[in-house]
Amino acid sequence: MPESHAVPAVALEARSPFELRVNLGQDFPEASFRSALASGDVGFLHSFTTGSTVDGPGVRVVAWTAGCMWRCLYCHNPDTWTTRNGMPVTIERAAEVLRSYAHGLKVMSGGLTLSGGEPLMQHRFVSRLCTVARKMGVHTAVETNGYFGDKITDADLNNIDLVLLGIKTWGSERHLHLTGMDSAPTLAFAQRLADRKLPIWVRFVLVPGLTDDPENIAQIAHFAARLGNVERVEVLPFHQMGRYKWKELGLDYKLQDVEPPSAEVVERACGQFRAMGLRAD
Ligand code: SF4
Repeated sequence: MPESHAVPAVALEARSPFELRVNLGQDFPEASFRSALASGDVGFLHSFTTGSTVDGPGVRVVAWTAGCMWRCLYCHNPDTWTTRNGMPVTIERAAEVLRSYAHGLKVMSGGLTLSGGEPLMQHRFVSRLCTVARKMGVHTAVETNGYFGDKITDADLNNIDLVLLGIKTWGSERHLHLTGMDSAPTLAFAQRLADRKLPIWVRFVLVPGLTDDPENIAQIAHFAARLGNVERVEVLPFHQMGRYKWKELGLDYKLQDVEPPSAEVVERACGQFRAMGLRAD
């Protein structure tokens, strides 16, 4: 890999995942790009953020990967849809960054979270970085929509401590409308994790008029409870923090006028999960 592609042109750290970042990897040669994805020698990252307390247990470093094949209507990071928008970072450089935080992460009962975008679009890089983290004694979590769960081998799963699994909605048609994709691979991945007793935190975005139907929530709660490995359900109220990105990118944002759900609606949804014996907040 040419050295010029191993050194990021901009700081890895971003102020937040809501910082718009585009075309950071556009100069990366096509042939190298494909071999990087295949080998995991290089990852394409939106950014690293540090000190997160909302992306897994404890205090965490989050590597935000670029690339996602879904098109969720409420996505707050559409600048991560394109892998080329990510900054090329070698696995060695990512490990170096992680090593500088490893001690603190362990002291603060935290770890590394790979989020995105969709991390499993870059499953080789993700697996290698989780392996490196584990060798440092750092807890590993992967936030995913699960669609490419079958690309992760059982050996790779051994280096992942927790999966933050996005369950967007229930029902094939509704799921297709919301994400543009089929829900079956996600549900199959959830079952595979359950069979391996690998802990899941379900992440469910509550969007008025889109996912807040009690029957929809009841179906998800029933599925999650039956798995037996769901430690927690995070009900994430829809927000408009990513709206400006849709505008900047010239994308057609359909949720322009949707308000965040009220505290009562959020509590009602949490209550539905709790009623199935799940921890929900
Ligand atoms: S899966 Fe996540 S990153 Fe991909 S479109 Fe949906 S919300 Fe955005």
